[in-house]
Amino acid sequence: MEKSQEGLTVKKDENFSEWYTQLIEKAELADLRYNIKGFLVFQPWSVLSMEKMFSSMEKVLQRKGHSPYFFPTLIPENNLKKESSHIKGFTPEVFWVTQGGDNVLEEKFALRPTSETAFYQMFSLWIRSYKELPFKTYQRANIFRHETKATRPFLRSREFHWIETHCAHASKEDAMSQVKEDMETTKEVLHDIFGLPFMFFERPSWDKFPGAEKTFAADVLNPDGKVVQQPSTHILKQEFPRAFGVTFKDKNGEEKTVWTTCYGPAISRIFASVMIVHGDDKGLKFPWDIAPLQVVIIPINEEVKQKAEKLKLEIEKFASVKIDYSDKRPGEKFNYWEMKGVPIRIDLGLKDLENKKITVFRRDLDKKEVVSESELIKKIKKISEEITKNLTKKADNLFNNKIKDAKNIKEIKKIIEEGGIARCNFCSVEKEGEKCAEIIEKETGAQVRGTKLDEKQKPNGKCAICGKPAHNIVYIAKSY
Ligand SMILES: [Zn+2]
Repeated sequence: MEKSQEGLTVKKDENFSEWYTQLIEKAELADLRYNIKGFLVFQPWSVLSMEKMFSSMEKVLQRKGHSPYFFPTLIPENNLKKESSHIKGFTPEVFWVTQGGDNVLEEKFALRPTSETAFYQMFSLWIRSYKELPFKTYQRANIFRHETKATRPFLRSREFHWIETHCAHASKEDAMSQVKEDMETTKEVLHDIFGLPFMFFERPSWDKFPGAEKTFAADVLNPDGKVVQQPSTHILKQEFPRAFGVTFKDKNGEEKTVWTTCYGPAISRIFASVMIVHGDDKGLKFPWDIAPLQVVIIPINEEVKQKAEKLKLEIEKFASVKIDYSDKRPGEKFNYWEMKGVPIRIDLGLKDLENKKITVFRRDLDKKEVVSESELIKKIKKISEEITKNLTKKADNLFNNKIKDAKNIKEIKKIIEEGGIARCNFCSVEKEGEKCAEIIEKETGAQVRGTKLDEKQKPNGKCAICGKPAHNIVYIAKSY
């Protein structure tokens, strides 16, 4: 891995695209040379972190009453066809399995592009009474979509790794409470553990998930002012569970169709946001709980080996730790582990040790501190508690001054060009406003992301585009 030993040769804010590609290659996150377009080989450094991301998310979901399942990867064509807008939305992206060995199959099977039509098939057998509702499930799975847009590793590939929750509810109100719970979960996990700032929007009617009545999504803000869509939650049209006969008997014994919701945190895509939001010109920076490795010890001289081993045993009790015995020069080791984003590095030198001192480097602040040997463990624990908070605070600050009010298309354009998010009065996020959204996209290259779910202000005045009375306040941003 000679290549990974040289640092990044471009600056993040000068050539983001190249920075991103170099980081994936040099920090050994994924190998892009697999011989199917749009598919990548995830390497240990990203897998170890994503494993932790999965488990952070699953822990919260289980605490909130979701039960885990593993569903088949294949979905019969008949299932997919049952709800017309769903199949229409997904057909262009479905990979089909048509053959088993030499035999052409009687029915085609889809490699799941999402699993509503698999879960609802079984919900119809499992759910009988209002007493079983809400019925809350999830699975971690890989998903296949023959993306027609340009693919980009982690952000948009043809196979990705996600969690999908599928829930059935007795009423639309209960479905809406689930959306709010999903928003809370996004905050608890993406913001508080992964350090990612986001806004939670209800998407305009023209930008809904195929088959959804309402679509909500978290947009994570990148340092360059663009947003990346992260978990989305959908309240599906009732036609959807109806098509599968997912019904229950209510309190009065009356047969009713459930309301369903689904929430899809795509871990491999969220990993991209972790790279982009926290990374810098030297490489990655990991929040503490999702770092593939939390502490690395660099023995500067041969004589400190014993001391290094002793320290490792102590640190192992509360953090993942490794000693770098490779034959690289200390400076090369420093650069390597900084690029890998390891939160804490301990430089063990003979001279320091003679004075009962140890040098600790923290990647969140890129700062070296010399501490007395007796204080070291306490110091590491303290830093471990501060790292995620520091990264989160820095990321949150991105939002400061990024959101600006606009009164007309000219102002929207200016805000977008300066890397901001424009907020304005808007005629309507229902069908009749689509024209205005198209004008915005054409003039500025940015999209109407939607209305904020927890918006405090009321729209008043006229649509910034067409001048008709405004019914909504919308947010406009460029996206990846
Ligand atoms: Zn308008």
